[in-house]
Amino acid sequence: MAHAYDPTNIFARILRGEIPNKTVLETPHTLAFHDIAPQAPDHILVIPKGAYATFDHFCAEASEAELVDFHRTAARICDMLGASLASGGPGYRAITNAGDHGGQEVPHYHLHILAGRPLGPMLA
Ligand code: 5GP
Repeated sequence: MAHAYDPTNIFARILRGEIPNKTVLETPHTLAFHDIAPQAPDHILVIPKGAYATFDHFCAEASEAELVDFHRTAARICDMLGASLASGGPGYRAITNAGDHGGQEVPHYHLHILAGRPLGPMLA
């Protein structure tokens, strides 16, 4: 059975075109766009187009095509930012928040990609 998913969340509305976004990359299963309140010079959100509330729901329920497309798109963003180690860049941070304890605000799975400056150690 599919998990509970709130279709009124802000990223679902972005996917339906009800709210504008600054798109960086769009693929068949994935959308990447600028965070509205960037925490680093580059702060991109990568989201699956499917209705998945968290990382764990996405991993449990998405098809292999969705999973591969999502991660390849995220890696491509790191490359486009000039941050990916594979292309000789200085690095980036990729994080996801899940649920209450994870501090998740928008209940649609998203990966934050932060880059463009040294980010220091991860804080609590
Ligand atoms: P969370 O805390 O759920 O991991 O992160 C949610 C992120 O979504 C935050 O970094 C916040 O700035 C971003 N955000 C919230 N509303 C919007 C919006 O309407 N547009 C965009 N582009 N980002 C948003």
